[in-house]
Amino acid sequence: MMTTSSDVLVVGGGMAGAVAALAAATRGRSVTLLRKAPGATALASGAIDLAPMGEQRHVTSVAVASATAGWLEAVASRSPSHPYCAVGPRGLALIGDAADMILGRLADAGLPHAPFDAKGRGHLVVDLTGKVRRVASAQASQKLEETEPGKRRIGVVRFRRHLSLDTGLTLAGLRAVFANVVPVEVDWPDEADGAFLLPVEIGRRLDDPRGRSALFKLLRTAVAGKRLTHLVLPPIAGLEHVSEVMRAVSDVTGTKAVETLGGEASLPGHRLDRALSRALEAAGVRLETNAHGASDGKLKRFPGAIVLASGRFIGGGLERRDRLRETIFDLPVDDGARPIKDEPLDVLTSRRGLGAHRVFRAGIRIDENLRPLDVGGKPFREGLFAAGSVIGGHDPQADFSGMGVAILTGYLAGLRAAEWKRS
Ligand SMILES: Cc1cc2nc3c(=O)[nH]c(=O)nc-3n(C[C@H](O)[C@H](O)[C@H](O)COP(=O)(O)OP(=O)(O)OC[C@H]3O[C@@H](n4cnc5c(N)ncnc54)[C@H](O)[C@@H]3O)c2cc1C
Repeated sequence: MMTTSSDVLVVGGGMAGAVAALAAATRGRSVTLLRKAPGATALASGAIDLAPMGEQRHVTSVAVASATAGWLEAVASRSPSHPYCAVGPRGLALIGDAADMILGRLADAGLPHAPFDAKGRGHLVVDLTGKVRRVASAQASQKLEETEPGKRRIGVVRFRRHLSLDTGLTLAGLRAVFANVVPVEVDWPDEADGAFLLPVEIGRRLDDPRGRSALFKLLRTAVAGKRLTHLVLPPIAGLEHVSEVMRAVSDVTGTKAVETLGGEASLPGHRLDRALSRALEAAGVRLETNAHGASDGKLKRFPGAIVLASGRFIGGGLERRDRLRETIFDLPVDDGARPIKDEPLDVLTSRRGLGAHRVFRAGIRIDENLRPLDVGGKPFREGLFAAGSVIGGHDPQADFSGMGVAILTGYLAGLRAAEWKRS
């Protein structure tokens, strides 16, 4: 049942919708957030990418990092259709405020992050495939401390007998960047179906101090005599109590424990999704989950401002049946340069895996005030604002700006919605 009594209605409960709702609530507005289900945010790795900040060998070089500082501006100048451009320089300048707001709320909700760093070198993280990169922020458990190379000895936990926690590639990737990286072999506890446990199930178990004991005993034995300074784990360190679990791992092993970014069935993504819900509840945002979701017909009855934060294909904001369409208002969809309608998929994709895929840049268009535009380039409806990946003209993966766009446009759309009055 959709409420009509709030000042602002946010459609979508991923990062963009959550930031928009929190920004509007901060301005004293009553806010309802309606979502169908978790979206791409709940699958993400835990990293907060704003722009490409350096990969692999370059990540340890200060010279490379400072030569390419001004990350956001670089993305905006390279790609005029990117939402960083669409919101204008004044909008872009608010990225720090937006990130501070959401990372502060997440910390209060029990999910601390590395301090947001859009201007400096960012933070080092490693993913399960061993790719080391710099990011503007990440869950605090994922930040690889930067210590003097000579003093660092990194252990990478490899669970034998578990079928989906293989960190062999992580080990190889870290060895390509750092000296003194060694495997720490651990036999997964012997129990029925133990080898099939998913990261989320393991995370839940580790949240409970009693559930940790068998695994931690094995970890303690495995690191003995290895003189490690750091210990890299696959992403399993708790669903709700990650700080406590990481502290406990560090205590047991005498190391600084670090998690890799989330992979498939990402525990950090699931953890983020839950922490966002706790932050929204704490801010007094009314949360509604409805599998049917919002439709234009229902939304017409809502008298206040609306933020459309419905995501793309995973979230459900875009779909492709006979043609590619925005699912709620049937807003025009383009790739930032040309409209996309009923072109076959092979026209919208590139034969090269890492090539430019028009379909991955698909989304609606906005003006500087975050208002969705109609086919004539005019604001589609009074009081409607958009945020997150439903906005087109950028490829979240290729541009390394998925969370950056969700946080910045979520914040701006939330503020605009809070200011909006029917004329
Ligand atoms: C596997 C994976 C890994 C990623 N890794 C990274 C990374 O390392 N770094 C990074 O910066 N970004 C990453 N991203 C990208 C990033 O996660 C997304 O760009 C971002 O989360 C998009 O957020 P969003 O709020 O716009 O959309 P979503 O999170 O998809 O949320 C959309 C919401 O809208 C709701 N919705 C849709 N239609 C309706 C309707 N009709 N009524 C009500 N609700 C509706 C959905 O239920 C959902 O709650 C990753 C994405 C994926 C999939």
